[in-house]
Amino acid sequence: MISRIDLRGSSGDPRDALPRAEIDVADATERVRPICDDVRHRGTEALVELTERFDGVRLTDIRVPKDAIDSALAELDPAVRAALEESIRRARKVHHEQRRQGHTTQVVPGGTVTEKWIPVNRVGLYVPGGRAVYPSSVIMNVVPAQEAGVSSLAVTSPPQKDFGGLPHPTILAACALLGVDEVYAVGGAQAVAMFAYGTADCERADMVTGPGNIWVAAAKRLLKGVIGIDAEAGPTEIAVLADATANPDYVAADLISQAEHDVVAASVLVTPDEALAEAVTERLAARVAATRHSERVREALSGPQSGIVLVDDLEQGLAVVDAYAAEHLEIMTADAPAWAARVRNAGAIFVGDHSPVSLGDYAAGSNHVLPTGGCACHTGGLSVQTFLRGVHIVEYDRDALADVAHHVITLAEAEDLPAHGEAVAARTGHRSGRD
Ligand code: NAD
Repeated sequence: MISRIDLRGSSGDPRDALPRAEIDVADATERVRPICDDVRHRGTEALVELTERFDGVRLTDIRVPKDAIDSALAELDPAVRAALEESIRRARKVHHEQRRQGHTTQVVPGGTVTEKWIPVNRVGLYVPGGRAVYPSSVIMNVVPAQEAGVSSLAVTSPPQKDFGGLPHPTILAACALLGVDEVYAVGGAQAVAMFAYGTADCERADMVTGPGNIWVAAAKRLLKGVIGIDAEAGPTEIAVLADATANPDYVAADLISQAEHDVVAASVLVTPDEALAEAVTERLAARVAATRHSERVREALSGPQSGIVLVDDLEQGLAVVDAYAAEHLEIMTADAPAWAARVRNAGAIFVGDHSPVSLGDYAAGSNHVLPTGGCACHTGGLSVQTFLRGVHIVEYDRDALADVAHHVITLAEAEDLPAHGEAVAARTGHRSGRD
């Protein structure tokens, strides 16, 4: 069911041999362009038509009424409510500590640069709801935005045919628990375009964040610049770096847990131990047959994006997982913390036998909105920092300016931008950089 890739003895770039999805975000970008253009030009009318086409729901109002949000919370199963509240408590604890203080540096007497962290004004938060529904993603989006001090927050999630064309009630209840009452019943690329361009019914946002399928990730890439984005948090990936000490049942369970998200989800095991590879393959077969979404999982595990990669040793394994830059990386080896400390590229790292990705998906306190498709080599997961902009405030008095004026004028002349120097000279009386 899952393919084997043998990199033993190979010294080339591991990225050339690693499993990757057939359709990538770049291909999907061209396919979502007409959807985004349509929303740009026809606003709500386009949203209604696209929602009917992709979600099978004819919306009368794209915005979810406040009483539907309140009644979703009132009717929420108490056990689910308790789990959501615990998840919120842990996420808040971690994200609260990510807040940043401004800082003033006295560069010279009379000359300061202050770095001030200002929250983004308005953000649109995407909560997936296609193959599965993700109330946990409400928490992962909203908590860091709130901790950053974002004043205007809107959530959007695909409408569900079985729930009167509203987003799933547990998603609405999670919004209510977090005090969010601006919620839209729109999913996919069209939701990203709604926030980017604004419509008569939804004010445009400065930034859109959150996970989603390939269409959502592609719309984020396409509209980046029109609107700010977080990482391209697309179809889920798990890589496991494991040696002979790993428990094959845990490894198989974790590979399946992420394959359950999407038929294009990626599950990759990297190991130097052939016996472990065999044992995991056997455990996968048994577990896939018994799991609820076995068809989806089987398709994900047998897809070109999943595989078991054999390496010479853990050193090569580390190079391989670094090159892959997985969204989630589990380390199940002897001395796992030491190997984890050496990883350079991963969205989040899960260390040892008792820190599975599922824990991070719901209740570790960490954020589960993480970069995919190799983006972990340049971007981190969603955090308070995502919603903050560092702004420099420059304040020099006359003497401090006069003291550095000749350097400014010299550099302005070196760049053939003399008016820059003249703007300083007008204040200090310098005639050239040699004064
Ligand atoms: P989703 O909400 O992301 O996507 C559903 C929407 O996709 C629908 O509303 C529809 O409008 C649109 N759509 C469906 N088919 C389309 C098509 N052919 N063309 C254009 N648009 C189409 O929900 P989902 O599909 O369940 O996907 C959720 C995704 O989120 C999964 O891939 C999962 O792995 C991923 N995820 C990622 C992270 C992360 O941090 N990277 C976290 C959680 C979930």
